[in-house]
Amino acid sequence: MNQIENKLLEKFTEFDNHQSVFRLDDEATGLKGFIAFHKNQKRVPSFGATRFLEYKTEDDALRDALRLSRLMSYKSAMAGFKYGGAKAVIIRNDEFPKDKILKAYAQKLNELSGKFITGTDVGLDLTDLKKMKRESEYFVGLKSNPEKYTAVGLFFSIEVACKKIFGNESFKDRTFAIQGVGKVGHEFLKIVYKNAGKIYISDTNIDRLKFIQKLFPKVKIVAPDKIQKQKVDVYMPCALSYALNKKTIGELNCKIITGSANNQLESKDIADKIYEKGIFYGPDYVVNAGGLISVVDEYENKNFDADRIEGKVKKIKKTLEKIMEGSDKEKISPARVADRMAEKIINKLKN
Ligand code: NAD
Repeated sequence: MNQIENKLLEKFTEFDNHQSVFRLDDEATGLKGFIAFHKNQKRVPSFGATRFLEYKTEDDALRDALRLSRLMSYKSAMAGFKYGGAKAVIIRNDEFPKDKILKAYAQKLNELSGKFITGTDVGLDLTDLKKMKRESEYFVGLKSNPEKYTAVGLFFSIEVACKKIFGNESFKDRTFAIQGVGKVGHEFLKIVYKNAGKIYISDTNIDRLKFIQKLFPKVKIVAPDKIQKQKVDVYMPCALSYALNKKTIGELNCKIITGSANNQLESKDIADKIYEKGIFYGPDYVVNAGGLISVVDEYENKNFDADRIEGKVKKIKKTLEKIMEGSDKEKISPARVADRMAEKIINKLKN
């Protein structure tokens, strides 16, 4: 694994003086990708899941690793952890068997001697995780079901948002539009399906839509470019980055935005515009921290205790309430308040 020199990273706007970035490159197995470490204290590991995705160029993959690792630092700080933020991105290449790529990746991870602790993000599932765990002890998420706890965190966050917008936390008859019904979207549906009102879903994977509709027959499928236009209480970006952008901002027809996707905002000013429209936006790295909280619990305790994890995930409510207070007081978007809070914590960390 080769470290990339900082001077080669400076051309990327996503570069934030990251601590270190490594290139993964193994011709024999087709492994290609990056592991980026954002800010960290030397003695503690950095957490961040591994993404397995098709990218148009290597630079696109590197940019994704840079911005996702930065977001992981913010997430870790706001969840009250001393751990650093990191992220691994593997470039999907269907010319090579996925298992071989993942095996090579897991073996490479051992070179970092536990400085990077990782699990599954987009493109990877529990089956992949089990196989990688055979090669390296630095994988988490086998016991703690992070997707479920990400969904639980979203549930708690939406409760807080509903209290603010509608005066009560109840989900009864609340309407939802979910962009992306992958692992987290599925777990969220399990929680709200019975109680909720209309639920619109979209996904670019038709088989996934069929699978979900079989399990939850009352969901209504809409085209991927129409999901944000649905008139609902809650819009949930649960797919990839930048669901909230210059184009979609004018199309939003919801009161609350709270989803699991990382880097939902194309730029900071989009959050300002959402705020001006009177829509509550739950900052992504705050509301989607349930998965991180659950894997950190697994790492620290080595056993699984659902009540203990749920209790920790529930703390997201308090953090979100604090952010809301700041936003109301200063009349700025919750995203700006959260960034400031996170940066204050991160800047105190000693390298
Ligand atoms: P996943 O890969 O299981 O699901 C993502 C789904 O989105 C897939 O079904 C995919 O087909 C769909 N999709 C992709 N592009 C789309 C588009 N343009 N419109 C609609 N659907 C689209 O991933 P996941 O684990 O469910 O994670 C979802 C998001 O939440 C990701 O951004 C991930 O980084 C973030 N996240 C996940 C966790 C976790 O615990 N898994 C934790 C925090 C954040």
